[in-house]
Amino acid sequence: MKYKFLMMLTLLLLLVGCTLEESSKEPVVEQEEQKEQKEQQEQQEQQVEQVEQVEQVEQVEQVETTAIPIKPSVEMAVHFIDVGQGDSILIQSPKGKNMLIDGGKKGAGKQVVSYLRKQGVENLDYVVATHPDSDHIGGLITVLNSITINNFVDSGKTHTSQTYEEMLQLILDKKISYIVPSKGEQIALDPGLKVTVMNAGEDAADNNEASIVLKVQYGEVSFLLTGDADIGIERSMLQVYDLESTILKAGHHGSDTSSSEDFIRVVNPKVAILSYGLDNSYGHPNASVVNQFQEIGADVYATAEVGNITVKTNGIDYRVTTENLPEESTSVLVTSESTIAITSKDLREEIVGITNDGESSINLKGWQLVSVSGNQTFKFPNISLAAGKTIYITSGPDAAEGQGNIKWTNGQMWLNDGDAARLLNDKGEIVSELK
Ligand SMILES: [Zn+2]
Repeated sequence: MKYKFLMMLTLLLLLVGCTLEESSKEPVVEQEEQKEQKEQQEQQEQQVEQVEQVEQVEQVEQVETTAIPIKPSVEMAVHFIDVGQGDSILIQSPKGKNMLIDGGKKGAGKQVVSYLRKQGVENLDYVVATHPDSDHIGGLITVLNSITINNFVDSGKTHTSQTYEEMLQLILDKKISYIVPSKGEQIALDPGLKVTVMNAGEDAADNNEASIVLKVQYGEVSFLLTGDADIGIERSMLQVYDLESTILKAGHHGSDTSSSEDFIRVVNPKVAILSYGLDNSYGHPNASVVNQFQEIGADVYATAEVGNITVKTNGIDYRVTTENLPEESTSVLVTSESTIAITSKDLREEIVGITNDGESSINLKGWQLVSVSGNQTFKFPNISLAAGKTIYITSGPDAAEGQGNIKWTNGQMWLNDGDAARLLNDKGEIVSELK
C-alpha cells in the first residue's frame, strides 16, 4: 500500500514535470486550460482525501479501493492502415515524431500516402521495412517518392525482386540514412517511448524469418508489432524478451504459421489486431488463431472487417477506434454474477442506461460509473434500482434530471468517437463494461 502510494506519487510528479516542460511552448489559452485542469485535479484530490478520511473512520480496510486520479499525459497514436492484403502501420509519438512500418502492396502506396497526409504527416522520421515481401514493401516505393524520410530501417535480408531493388535505389538516390538493426537494439524515435528491436534477420533463411519485430512501450501501454515472424522466431524471442504487451499485431496476417499458443499466452494481449485483405487467396486469418485470441479474452480487430484501426493511448489507458463499425457495434462484458449491467450508451447525447435485470431491488450506494478514456468517475448516491428498471446517468450541457434520469454533471464526460463505460460495485469490482 505504502509502496503503491509512492509509485502513484512518483508518477504524478513525473506527469506534472511533463506538463511544465510542455507549457512553456504553448499558447496562453492552453496554459489556462491546464491551470483549470490542475485546479479540477486538486479539487478531485481533496474530495478523494475527504472520502478517504470518512472511510477510515467507518472501515479502515476499505481505503485501498478509492482510486487516486492520475492526470493522463500526452497521447500517442498507432494506426493500422487498411491496405487490403498486407501490413502498414503508422506510429505518431507523443512528441509528434512519425514512424511508418511497411506500406502494403505496390497498389496500396497511393492510399498509404493519402492516409499519412490526412494525419498531417509531412515527414517520416523513420520508415521500417519489416522484410522484403511485396505485401510489406510494395507501397513503400510510392511513399519514398512522395514524402521525405530521415531514416530507413531495413531487415537487411536481400531479395531478388524488382520492387526490392527499386526500393534500395530510391534510398540511395535520396541519400536517406540506411540502418540494418541488430536484435536488442533501441530505435530513438521519441525520448518518451522505448522502441526495441526484438528480431531482425539479415541472414535468415527465408523472408518471414527476417521480419523486424518491434516492441513499443509508452508508460504502461505497449505494442508488439511482429511483421510476418513465424512460430520459430516467436519461440526464440520468448527465451530472451519480456513479450507481454497490451496490443499485439498478430504475425503473418493471422496465419497459423505464427501466433503459437505459448506465444499468445505469454504476450497476453488485451487487443489483437489482424491485418489482411477480404477473401484473400491465402485463407488468412486462420480460424483457430482467432479463436485463441478470443479465448484469452482479447478484443480482436481485423482491417478487412473494420477498415483502418487506430489505438490512442496516454500511457495509462487506451482506446481503439475503427473506420467502420464492427458487425456487433457494442460488446457487453459482464465480469461478475451481478444482475445489474450497462445496457445503453449514447456518447453524443451523453446518456448511459443501467438496468437491473434481477428479481429484487438493489441499492447502488458506493457504486461507480467510469468514463474509461478520461478516467472520470460518477459516484452513485444512496438510491435503489428496482427489479426490471433502468436508470439513466446524464451529462453534458443538456443533462436531464428526474423521471429515471440522474444528472452527473453539465460537463462532457464521454468522447464522441468511442469511450468505454465501466460499472463498478461497492467493492470496486467491475460489474459491467460497454465498449
Ligand atoms: Zn505479409
